[in-house]
Amino acid sequence: MNRHQRTLMRPVSCTGIGLHSGRTVNLCLRPAESDTGVMFKRSDLPASPLIPADVNHVVSTDLSTTVGMDGVTISTVEHLLSALSGLGVDNVLVEVDAPEIPIMDGSAAPFVFLMRGAGFTSQGRPRQYYRVKREVEVSENGKHIKVAPSKKLKVDFTIEFDHPLIHRQKMGFVLDEKAYDKDISRARTFGFLRDMRYLHENGLALGGSLDNAVVLDNYQVLNEDGLRFPDEFVRHKVLDFIGDLGMVGRPIVGAFTAHKSGHALNNKLFRKFLADPTAWELVTPGPEDIPQYVEEPLPLFDRVAATA
Ligand SMILES: [Zn+2]
Repeated sequence: MNRHQRTLMRPVSCTGIGLHSGRTVNLCLRPAESDTGVMFKRSDLPASPLIPADVNHVVSTDLSTTVGMDGVTISTVEHLLSALSGLGVDNVLVEVDAPEIPIMDGSAAPFVFLMRGAGFTSQGRPRQYYRVKREVEVSENGKHIKVAPSKKLKVDFTIEFDHPLIHRQKMGFVLDEKAYDKDISRARTFGFLRDMRYLHENGLALGGSLDNAVVLDNYQVLNEDGLRFPDEFVRHKVLDFIGDLGMVGRPIVGAFTAHKSGHALNNKLFRKFLADPTAWELVTPGPEDIPQYVEEPLPLFDRVAATA
């Protein structure tokens, strides 16, 4: 894990479709000062209001994660937050001209690609983290998630779906930038055809399609190219979890165990954890163990492709 806070080296932008509206959304990620965290900006509204990515500002987890403040909201933040968290980017200004982040291909890979094109820069300020001192757990309707003391940030995730292609899938993951890129970032969100039909008939998820989700009927995957991993489903749940963790503001270095958890329950655990000061201590790495870290951006040619 980085010892220094990190931001992007330069602004990068992309365009995609909004999951809710089906309309075009322009997204720009800009470097931000130390200790800013992840800040969303609605450039389509008068005075361009800001909304911080914060566990306490999550207003809905139906269909997608929505953050809001003073009546202004931004939806579908979870996969972008996962990419930021997975790559260890602490400070960034996320500008959008719509009430939602574009869904892209339903994974975090397009955001990883975009940010790698910008390059990262170390900001000289230490990156604090939460060290877990004792176990904290939440459960609800047969779902549960807990965090326990550990030297590494790791998650063991299990999902269960009554579907012949899923049944029970399990994945253990230790947070590491390269492993995130390779094993997690490409896993797409998934849904069932019957739910998708219902949503479309009710004017919801108008942008949702086979281009941005793995869609299953009762027996099989409907996407022509099939799955990216045989266990893409649980990998995506880990991706979502890392995005939710990004809203804590600082890494929680602990061992998470999740069974059928999702955005709502993850959020509940983080709030319970933060509200109990006996469960954690804030650790600031000393200057002697802070390595200098600057990653060079991609050559210009690749960067043009990343912003095209
Ligand atoms: Zn997701």
